[in-house]
Amino acid sequence: MIQENLEWVKSRIIAAAEKVGRLPESIRLIAVSKTVSVEKVIEAREAGAKLFGENRVQEALEKIDRLGQGGAGWHFIGHLQKNKVKQIVGRFDLIHSVDSVGLAQVINEKSLARSLITPILIQVNISGEASKSGLAPDALESALRVVAKMPAVKVEGLMTIPPYDPDPENSRSVFARLRELRDEMVELRMESICLSELSMGMSNDFAVAIEEGATLVRVGSAIFGDRPAAG
Ligand SMILES: *Cc1c(COP(=O)(O)O)cnc(C)c1O
Repeated sequence: MIQENLEWVKSRIIAAAEKVGRLPESIRLIAVSKTVSVEKVIEAREAGAKLFGENRVQEALEKIDRLGQGGAGWHFIGHLQKNKVKQIVGRFDLIHSVDSVGLAQVINEKSLARSLITPILIQVNISGEASKSGLAPDALESALRVVAKMPAVKVEGLMTIPPYDPDPENSRSVFARLRELRDEMVELRMESICLSELSMGMSNDFAVAIEEGATLVRVGSAIFGDRPAAG
């Protein structure tokens, strides 16, 4: 089942990329394995999944400890509390969900202490939905200017989560806005800020996100099946 699902998702990634003249290789698939057992993660890895996304520190670290860093990349995609940063520095290839300058500051400190540079994305709350984390779009420039001076974090791009909508077309404007915002920030030519990654798109809307420029899609249930409610 996981193998078929994965093949289906990959073929849709290729189709969406080709539809807008992008190279399919410019899009990386993150198999979101939150709440999924280690056995299923192994199955997905054997079926060709290379990157896994987790949103809870404890659960993620248990999986990484059991599976090892080798052969799979791990991305942290969930809301991150400052007091958990110390545990995850050095364990993830990318943190997608940095939603405040204060959090970036803690990641910088803990990374410096271990002589590491931690790659991050800045999460932006495009829709302004109260229940979603992320910086307001008009706070992004000043945040990037501060984060640019932190020696042990490397900003690689932006991430967003649109309000849930069963019709992916209704999320298109959110994805397009994240891309435009990225382009505006790139125009400012801030030193040491690279914004090549756009993390956007989940199971029900990743094709639309790719059409709007996603380079990282975070797909869970379309690969692993539905999660238990509230998972
Ligand atoms: C759970 C989750 C996903 C995956 O959601 P699906 O709808 O199962 O694909 C993607 N991004 C984040 C931040 C998540 O928490």
